[in-house]
Amino acid sequence: MAKTGRRLSLIGQKFGKLLVESFAGVVKQRTRWNCICECGNRTVVCGCDLMGDHTKTCGRCPNRIEPFGDAVVIWLEMKDRDVPCFIDAADYPLVKDYRWCAVKRKNERGFYAQSSTKVYMHALLMGKGADHKDGDSLNNRRQNLRTSSVSENNRNRGIQISNTTGFKGVLPHRNKFRAAIKVDGKKHHLGTFNTALEAGRAYNEAAKKYHGEFAALNDVGDHDLVLNQKQEA
Ligand SMILES: [Zn+2]
Repeated sequence: MAKTGRRLSLIGQKFGKLLVESFAGVVKQRTRWNCICECGNRTVVCGCDLMGDHTKTCGRCPNRIEPFGDAVVIWLEMKDRDVPCFIDAADYPLVKDYRWCAVKRKNERGFYAQSSTKVYMHALLMGKGADHKDGDSLNNRRQNLRTSSVSENNRNRGIQISNTTGFKGVLPHRNKFRAAIKVDGKKHHLGTFNTALEAGRAYNEAAKKYHGEFAALNDVGDHDLVLNQKQEA
């Protein structure tokens, strides 16, 4: 701490959601500070990033959630504001283990809700190619979602185990997730699971069994998706 005397002390100052708690040392001539985020997470940030407004949150804040009739509002954090995303309350369990962000898609105006593992919320609920009837890409209530036309998806790719859930071999099915694996060109169903993560694990087990050392496994360990989920093997 002795060296902080010659430096501008940021202790006690607030930058966005971050409150500077203490000096964290100097790395490559950059002063670093221990900060606590409004969400409770702790993080270390360079002074220049704090003062230049580059870093305003821990970057891992859980989404703020609000009930809204029979829907749930999931607030998506953006640089200067939060934007609301709507989902049926009944679907909330399907999305609660992901951390959602607002993203722009190429050539499209509105924002979409995308997980930190690059899964779109509407695709997780309705499958690849789903879109929004009223054009509001943050209204992910079932009544506003529709599956794509056959022609749109019919690009002759053969049977492809889609990856809309972020897990290989896992597809959304009604309010659950189905796992399947292809062995020698034949699809084997592995069951239906409550969460994409469980289905991903089932896929891994089967992949190890059938594909051995060549198995491409899902990342089901220390994953963003399991932020709020206890891992008990
Ligand atoms: Zn935070």
